[in-house]
Amino acid sequence: MESKARCSTISERDGHFLRPSNGEIHYIWWYMQGSIMNPEVRGSLRRAWGFCERHAWLALSIEASLRHSFLMGPAIVYEELMGRANQIMKKRGPWGGFRRLTALRAHGRCLMCEMGLGPHSRGFPSPEVVVKAQDTRELMNFAEITKPFWEMTVCGVCAGSESKVLCRSHLIEGLVKGHKVNLQEQRELVKSIANRLHIYSRAFVWEHRGTDTMADRAALISAVGWTSGWGPLIRLVYDRKGKRS
Ligand SMILES: [Zn+2]
Ligand SMILES: [Zn+2]
Repeated sequence: MESKARCSTISERDGHFLRPSNGEIHYIWWYMQGSIMNPEVRGSLRRAWGFCERHAWLALSIEASLRHSFLMGPAIVYEELMGRANQIMKKRGPWGGFRRLTALRAHGRCLMCEMGLGPHSRGFPSPEVVVKAQDTRELMNFAEITKPFWEMTVCGVCAGSESKVLCRSHLIEGLVKGHKVNLQEQRELVKSIANRLHIYSRAFVWEHRGTDTMADRAALISAVGWTSGWGPLIRLVYDRKGKRS
């Protein structure tokens, strides 16, 4: 299923689920310096629904670590993606289901996978950047303090739980395989993430500072999980501490 499966397999086999290679750090550092606003990069992110699972969480973790959880860039990118997802999920009428399925699929590969970047890629970031980029504590802290608000949005298939909530990829799989999917619930989920992310993203603008809540910030975690899958975050927050419930 899309490029996500390939990246996850590599990262899990090698135990590098959130440990970036120097090549990945180098790219994400460049991406954070402004290429995130480059129209071509934004176009690729739009077509591929962000990055693959590994690179989506790596990018968020590295940005959180290097910017002390000032996540304006990711908030803007995911606000756009979830706004589009919300419009797609609202489509009804004849052919609505088919059009929705087509639109929800990725129409391009993850930018970083496309460049051949993976757990063993070489690059030349500075030693200080490498140390910070490999430190997952900022993402862990951000995820921990916002957990009460994103936990109910975790995909049941990704988590191996009874939850009926689905990420984009597993929603597509469910629809293709003809599983019983409660579309109304999935619509509400996407709408809620999109609305909260809009508030979080807007709060980075001076006139709106302080208008976001912890629940709005949690929507960034939900958005990354929904678009790319939850595997790395589940392992970071639950498995690593041996307290997954
Ligand atoms: Zn990738
Ligand atoms: Zn999933």
